[in-house]
Amino acid sequence: MRWQGRKQSSNVEDRRGQGSRIGGKGTGIIGIIILLVGAYYGVDLSGVVGTPQIGTAAQQSSLSSEQEAQLNELSRVVLADTEAVWADYFSKRGSRYTPATLVLYTAGTQTACGTGQAAMGPFYCPADRKVYLDLSFYEDMRKKLGAAGDAAFAYVIAHEVGHHVQNLLGILPQVNQAQQSVGKTQANALSVKLELQADCFAGIWAHYAVNQKLFEEGDIEEAVAAAEAVGDDRLQQQAQGYAVPDSFTHGSSAQRMEWFKRGMQGGDINQCNTFASN
Ligand SMILES: [Zn+2]
Repeated sequence: MRWQGRKQSSNVEDRRGQGSRIGGKGTGIIGIIILLVGAYYGVDLSGVVGTPQIGTAAQQSSLSSEQEAQLNELSRVVLADTEAVWADYFSKRGSRYTPATLVLYTAGTQTACGTGQAAMGPFYCPADRKVYLDLSFYEDMRKKLGAAGDAAFAYVIAHEVGHHVQNLLGILPQVNQAQQSVGKTQANALSVKLELQADCFAGIWAHYAVNQKLFEEGDIEEAVAAAEAVGDDRLQQQAQGYAVPDSFTHGSSAQRMEWFKRGMQGGDINQCNTFASN
């Protein structure tokens, strides 16, 4: 991807190296809605998230300082690109886009949704409208998910920003409310629709990247492969050797790729109505 030396977003809060205070009272995110990019490490992603399994949270970042600096810049540039995309969309609807804040942190950090932990992967907290990202997730993607490259990482940020857009449009609160009044399986199905829509919204960013010639050879494939890598069937197979479709909260690899591509090809939010389709 072309990102070096390009415009960076200023909506970034850098909490890296502030240390994590995981443990003690109020640990974990319990019963508060957050939106992750994929169902990692046995974390329940039904919207109402249980206590994450810690384990890997306190580990040192395996990134070199050069890698870290590059990912820092990449993240800020991708965030700026999403801001251009969504500011344009909102202004065409006669309103204004309020950008999300990207919080960079290491290991653990406080959020309005509880204690965020790197082990959960990147996530969006609707209560403070912030996207939380530990840059070492890049290494997790590469090593654990087999998804590497700048476009893969950019997809993750665009997906989380997609949740922010859902929040601004009122979709997120509406769906979360609907989830309260149905059973587990149906709540999961609603979560899948929400997640696939965030993938489609990430695709709208990708559409912009294609138009602006920000993608280099192989980048589209890289981003699509990242969407595939975080499919529930793939992650469940990896974790437990089999997949349980009723427990899916993000959609299968095939669905995630399909909705991402749909957004990328059309660049049109009207094609992202996952709630109208089966
Ligand atoms: Zn998500």
